[in-house]
Amino acid sequence: TKYIVVSGGVISGIGKGVIASSTGLLLKTTGLKVTSIKIDPYMNIDAGTMRPTEHGEVYVLNDGGEVDLDLGNYERYLDVTLSRDNNVTTGKIYREVIEKERRGDYLGKTVQIVPHLTNAIQDWIERVSKIPVDETGEEPDVCIVELGGTVGDIESAPFVEAMRQFQFRIGRENFALIHVSLVPVIHGELKTKPTQAAVRELRGLGLSPDIVACRLVASCELDAQTKQKISMFCHVDDEQVMGVHDVTSVYHVPLLLERQGLVNLLTRRLQLGKVEIPRVGL
Ligand code: ADP
Repeated sequence: TKYIVVSGGVISGIGKGVIASSTGLLLKTTGLKVTSIKIDPYMNIDAGTMRPTEHGEVYVLNDGGEVDLDLGNYERYLDVTLSRDNNVTTGKIYREVIEKERRGDYLGKTVQIVPHLTNAIQDWIERVSKIPVDETGEEPDVCIVELGGTVGDIESAPFVEAMRQFQFRIGRENFALIHVSLVPVIHGELKTKPTQAAVRELRGLGLSPDIVACRLVASCELDAQTKQKISMFCHVDDEQVMGVHDVTSVYHVPLLLERQGLVNLLTRRLQLGKVEIPRVGL
């Protein structure tokens, strides 16, 4: 399985979920089987007990799982049936680790965020990514992992660290990262500083973006000059910088990304469609 992690910088609620679902949809159109996992870094076990006026509507899955509405996006965009385990929360991970501790599974060891919690996160993602989600009943080729919240938050720290370790566990050719950032438009001028800071923070935590998706919460598009500037300051190639401006329907976002070469880039980066070479252990 290949993993595409979608993280966010600067602020939340700018369309990370839509970019993640769109990426999955585009890969699905190339004939790949795509699944998804949404990480919500809150202590609640699920969204079932969360106030809808604060959190948005609760989405109910086929297995009765009460989850974040983003899971609904994935089911619709990807035409898949997900289960409650496709939504990971801090509460669920802690519960699992604490139950293991009570059973004595850790054999007297001191149970810690690193490595026990971060291992539990990686094991969970690996396990759930292999569950068939469509009518073929086959293991998915690609798993989109959307990391809720903002990189740099206390809440998301164990998940960011788990992803940092995960890229080594599964190998570079199986792991790509899309970082969604905000490009504010101030009096018609596109500002790149928040994106520079967000990518610097991400790198400081040991993750490098393969794609910097720049959200312009405005109708103007990301111009070539701004793209170059972000490329230079964020240490990525021009083609790795993609703009997503406000569109009239979120179903236009896949086309917007496709026009900027997203599928091509991911296909090359993850060697999609090629025979997998087994990794020899060290
Ligand atoms: P996040 O996952 O970052 O919280 P979402 O993907 O849920 O954000 O999007 C937040 C809101 O913004 C949704 O209501 C979505 O429809 C809207 N939205 C996202 N991307 C765009 C876009 N490119 N143009 C217009 N509206 C968008």
